[in-house]
Amino acid sequence: MPGIYVHIPFCKHKCTYCDFTSFPNRLNFAEAYMACLYKEAEMRAKELEKITFDTVYIGGGTPSIIDPKYIYGLMKQIVKQFHLTADPEVTIEMNPGTVDAEKIAIYKRAGINRFSVGLQTADDEQLRDLGRIHTCADFLECCRLLRGENFSADVMLGLKGQTKEQVARTIALVHENGATHVSMYALTPEDGTPIYTDYLNGELPDGDEVAELYDHGRKLLADYGYMRYEVSNFTKPGYGSRHNLNYWKRGEYIGLGVSASSFFFGRRFTNTFDLDEYMKCVLSGHFPVIESEEVSRQDAKFEFVMLALRTVFGISASRYRAAFGTDWREDFKSGYEKARPYLEETGDVARIKEEYLYVQNQILTEFLQ
Ligand code: SF4
Repeated sequence: MPGIYVHIPFCKHKCTYCDFTSFPNRLNFAEAYMACLYKEAEMRAKELEKITFDTVYIGGGTPSIIDPKYIYGLMKQIVKQFHLTADPEVTIEMNPGTVDAEKIAIYKRAGINRFSVGLQTADDEQLRDLGRIHTCADFLECCRLLRGENFSADVMLGLKGQTKEQVARTIALVHENGATHVSMYALTPEDGTPIYTDYLNGELPDGDEVAELYDHGRKLLADYGYMRYEVSNFTKPGYGSRHNLNYWKRGEYIGLGVSASSFFFGRRFTNTFDLDEYMKCVLSGHFPVIESEEVSRQDAKFEFVMLALRTVFGISASRYRAAFGTDWREDFKSGYEKARPYLEETGDVARIKEEYLYVQNQILTEFLQ
């Protein structure tokens, strides 16, 4: 079922690897920005009044850096404007350096029932190197406050000098402190970020080294009872992210806020990345959309295959046929034949073999284009 994504773009300062839409030193705009978000939600809800949404995801930026009364207000507005299922999954991203008991109590009163905590690594030196504002001790305190809650922790691979032992320590800590879910992903050194210089200087682990760290991490996560359900996502039974599963099933979603993207009624569209422009636009009663494109049938088929094969559930030929009226193996005949050695096929379902899931992107992009 469709989901709602809300972008809160404020951060204390920029991490060295960050190329997300986030604005350090503009926290004083939080009140005005949230007022615009409430208004955009109202405008969008009018168009989508017949739609029922199953998930809300409040991401950033650092949503937990703003006064929690705005998150409470945001959720009140979403519940008032949109039609939600009886038991929606509502997630908020949190930075461990910005959390306290009162904030979490307010989030829970607002209906938030899933927390995504940006740990990245348990090593304080590496955290400093990444420009993160928290320490490992902050993470432990955050876990204490979240005891018994459904919460995910981010683990980052490919850090300068990172060893298998450090990855193991981070994963053990996450497990011991009650995370129900782990997102373990590789650092991507983007051009224009400070860490890109480290990459150019050859100071970051290369692709093979990161793949080894990943392999080590995924085995440990399995030992601790986390099931991998997507390349970077691992869950204890029953805690997979419904919001992300909707993305991978090519489900519809609406994005609210600066830089948020949406997929609805066969179109993909993106809001402006400029904070001032966003607020000006919404205040004048216009949608702050800068790009809008109808997804062609061919692109839709390609997205369907790529997204499904990211998950361990794989692609179902009958679901594909129900969506497009054709057989994906025929539509992508030559690519499918080339990809076959990497696939495991059971009945009408094909999935990437366990050992190739990490490199599935390269395999599929090359073969299925
Ligand atoms: S906390 Fe997240 S969004 Fe903010 S600067 Fe760091 S990586 Fe970027």
